[in-house]
Amino acid sequence: FIEINNLRKSFGNTEVLHGLNLKIARGQLAALLGPSGCGKSTLLRAIAGLNSIDEGEIIIDGRRIDGLAPKDRGLGMVFQHYALFPNMNVLDNVKFGLEMKGVDKKTRDTEAKKMIDLVGLAGKEEAYPANLSGGQQQRVALARSLVTKPDVLLLDEPLSALDAQIRVQLRGLIKSLQAELGITVILVTHDQEEAMSMSDYIFVMNQGHIVQEGSPTYIYRHPQSEFATRFIGDYN
Ligand code: ATP
Ligand code: MG
Repeated sequence: FIEINNLRKSFGNTEVLHGLNLKIARGQLAALLGPSGCGKSTLLRAIAGLNSIDEGEIIIDGRRIDGLAPKDRGLGMVFQHYALFPNMNVLDNVKFGLEMKGVDKKTRDTEAKKMIDLVGLAGKEEAYPANLSGGQQQRVALARSLVTKPDVLLLDEPLSALDAQIRVQLRGLIKSLQAELGITVILVTHDQEEAMSMSDYIFVMNQGHIVQEGSPTYIYRHPQSEFATRFIGDYN
């Protein structure tokens, strides 16, 4: 469903992604693991169209999307640090994505409210980000990125700034959104439990290469890289 062929990306003279290939089946949640600086965020940003690429193809549902403007790629994205508009309430933050798409006002309202319900924030429509907890803010960020009904959701450590209990709640929320909306998810995480409990498939990255891929159980049983061994080791 998502297919990336020979993706290369340099910053200046430094190549950061060295010809990546990956495939993710429709509706799956794939985790992207690897040490700091290995290129995970660069890869997500390239898929989202926030980074240009030097070479390669990005195909989603048979459609080549590299070259399209970010808003035309059918993607939603949530980062570690909430990028909500502080001067807009929850409802307006969620509606924002739809305004860009030219959806009429009434539909914007109903769709945004539906999505706010779905992420468990019914009743908070009028609240401002500053008055929400970190977990609630990430729920708003999820609602905002999903209200346009993207095929693919890109998550770059969306839970890492949250405390443990809230993290567990939001893992459950993301899994239920994945199932309910049938979206395909790429999740960058440093959290072993998160990767093992949430993903259907894991890619291990190192220095701009994919060094191993497989089901969580497979990676758990046969960690190949030092990073994977250490990662799994920490999980035990
Ligand atoms: P982390 O786990 O710490 O978030 P990461 O795997 O997401 O790391 P990236 O942010 O993708 O790593 O960075 C990969 C490499 O590319 C790093 O060496 C980084 O310094 C470099 N890099 C990233 N963005 C830029 C940029 N805009 N300009 C120059 N170099 C960059
Ligand atoms: Mg990163």
